[in-house]
Parts: sequence; C-alpha cells; structure tokens
Amino acid sequence: MKTIEDFNFENKKALIRVDFNVPLDDEFNVSDTNRIEAAKPTIIKVLEDGGSAVLMSHLGRPKGERNPDLSLEHICKTVSEVLGVQVKFVSECSGEVAETAVAELEMGEVLLLENLRFHSEETSGDQNFAEELTKLGDIYVNDAFGTAHRAHASTTVVAKFFPQNKCFGYLMSKEIAAIEKVMQTGEKPVLAILGGAKVSSKITIIENILDKVDHLIIGGGMTYTFVKAKGGKVGDSICEDDKMDLAMEILRKAEEKGVKVHIPVDVIAADDFANNANTQITGSDEIPDGWQGLDAGPRTLENFKEVILQCKTILWNGPVGVFEMENFAKGTIAVGNFIDEATQNGSFSLVGGGDSVAAVKQFGFEEKVSYVSTGGGAMLESLEGKTLPGIAAIMG
Ligand code: AMP
Repeated sequence: MKTIEDFNFENKKALIRVDFNVPLDDEFNVSDTNRIEAAKPTIIKVLEDGGSAVLMSHLGRPKGERNPDLSLEHICKTVSEVLGVQVKFVSECSGEVAETAVAELEMGEVLLLENLRFHSEETSGDQNFAEELTKLGDIYVNDAFGTAHRAHASTTVVAKFFPQNKCFGYLMSKEIAAIEKVMQTGEKPVLAILGGAKVSSKITIIENILDKVDHLIIGGGMTYTFVKAKGGKVGDSICEDDKMDLAMEILRKAEEKGVKVHIPVDVIAADDFANNANTQITGSDEIPDGWQGLDAGPRTLENFKEVILQCKTILWNGPVGVFEMENFAKGTIAVGNFIDEATQNGSFSLVGGGDSVAAVKQFGFEEKVSYVSTGGGAMLESLEGKTLPGIAAIMG
C-alpha cells in the first residue's frame, strides 16, 4: 500500500482528489470546514516537499450540468484560509483551460479545479474523461475517503493511468488504518455497538461483523425487532416484522461463533413520537400498546457500561435512541461517555457511518474517541466487508 510518505514531490505536480463536498450557507459561505481541514496535511506535505497541488473535488449533485450555485469557486477563499496559502481557481476541471492553468502553476502553489460533477462522465467513470484528468498532474493522490465507495473517474478510474505514481493521502491512510484496527488487528475483546433505526439497513454489517467481534451491543430502533422475535411485547415501537426470522438467525449465528449479544433489557417508552410525550421506564419486552421505546433504560445502560469498559477495541455505529429529541438523547450521551472512559483507559474507539457521527459531534465526543470517520457511506460499506473501489484502485 503506497502512501504519500513514499513520495517526494519536489518539482512534481500532485493531482489530489479531495472531498470538498462541504455545506454552503445562503450566501455561499462554507458553514463547516472539517473536510477542508481533513485534507490539509496532505496538501501541505506536497508543498513542503517543493511541489505544487492540483485539487479536484465534487460539490453537491449537479448531475452533469454546469450549475453556478455549486461552483467550487465559492469555497476557494475558505480553502486559502484553512491552508494559509493563496489558492488559485480555474473554471474547468479538464481540457485546454484546465491544462493551461496547471502548466502555469509554480511549485509551492495550489490550484483548485471546477466541480468534477459538472461532467456526467465523472460519475459514470468514463475512461476518456479519466484520461483527460491524467494530464493535470505527475502523481495521483487519493485523499477523498468520503467518495472511496464510488467507482467514479476521479476516485477510481484515473488511478490506472498512474501505474507507479499513485498513493493514498494522509486522511485515506488514517481511515484505512482505523478500519483495519477494528476489523483485523484490534486488541481483544472487540466490541461493536450497532444502533440506529432499522435492522434492514444494518443487516450486512451485522453479518460481516460477527466474525470479527467478541461482543455485540444492539441498540436503538433495531432493538424491537430482536425483542419481538424472542417473544417480547414491543407495543408501538418501531419494528420490522418481516425481519424477525433474520433477527433470530443472527442470534443463532452469534451463539455459534461465541459472540455475546447484548440487547436492551429496559427502555424509556413514550406515548407519542415527540419530545414532550409522557414517558415511563418499562422492560423492553413488556411495552404496553400505545407506547413506543425511544431510548435505552437505566438497567440497560448499566449493562452497556460494564461491556464497554471491558473491551479494548470499540466500534460505534448508530445512536441507541432518538437522540434528535433532547428527552431521548440520554442513552446515546451515556454510551458516548462510557466510550470516552474506555478510551481514556487505553481502548481504541472508532465512530463511523451515518448518524452516529452527527450524534458524536452534537454531544462533543469528537475529541474523546480515538477516531471519527469522515465517510458515512464509505465507512458503512467498509464495515460490510466490501473492498472500496477507490482503495482497490490504489492497491492494484
Ligand atoms: P441510522 O441512520 O440507521 O443509524 O439511524 C439513525 C436514526 O435512528 C436516528 O435518526 C434515530 O432517531 C433513530 N432511532 C434510534 N432509536 C430509535 C427508536 N427507538 N425508535 C425510532 N427511531 C430510532
């Protein structure tokens, strides 16, 4: 696996695929600079080596049409501020105009190309378009984990035109290392905490993860499919009746593989899906009709705490309650605090995929866990055991 550390960029132009798909406010200002900051170490390394950086990214979903609202020019000023270097912008991402801008680029300079997705050839993974991109740099660096699960021209296809001169940037390397640590090389006991709304969206992850973990905590809306499958009463809780057989199959497989599964024993039940609903603590298998479980109960959290504190490697994907409502966020906050404590005691903790990252940021756990993945979909696919095309293209 070649990383950016394997190259010296002196007098070289690095063509870097970054993920600058950042949120913009009504006045086209960047409202969250995280993704730009995440790519900074890679860009700075190229410049410090004495090279220049050509940055390519997508922004939003322009669906192959030029859309001024989604021009990367809007973010150029912010990228300059974050990098501490004046960034140039070119209004094309391929062809003569882009090639001229690259040719005029001096070492130590940074050039930002226009939105790749103004061309439908980007998302279709067009060979010719990818070959055009090849003309814009000497070494291809992929640092866009957020799009690594897409076989697009700039994330995957372009790599084959740089058979020797291709590598991962620092962000990609960190993401890959974090996943490996959980899925392959993690110190035992290994724990996965899977929450979120539905079993159906997590099923492939659960099946894949059963081979890697010693403990599995199931939380959130998924709880009720498992509880009902085991004969419990779940009232009006979210439940996928057609997935109950699957839930039993998962429990059977887990037992076979020696994985201990921990399911909530009590819940905070509400008489409405609303923050101001009436609540009661009930056993997770005796929720009255008209009530629905919206958060983990106190005995459950005690159990979770005991498991989390004994594990050396922890993966967290999905909230254990409806964290968007203050009154049902306590379980998710408690789980975050237990992971914080475990991390302080030396455990490795990875948070990633979908809404768990939003929850972690909202409650300030970002600094407290070992690593927060920057890629929602890419992380989920990694946890499902898939080889991401953007990663395979650099390895191959
Ligand atoms: P996911 O994207 O699958 O990780 O699901 C995250 C969503 O699950 C969040 O929006 C939570 O509000 C929701 N969720 C968690 N627990 C429950 C629950 N007990 N009932 C309904 N939705 C839940």
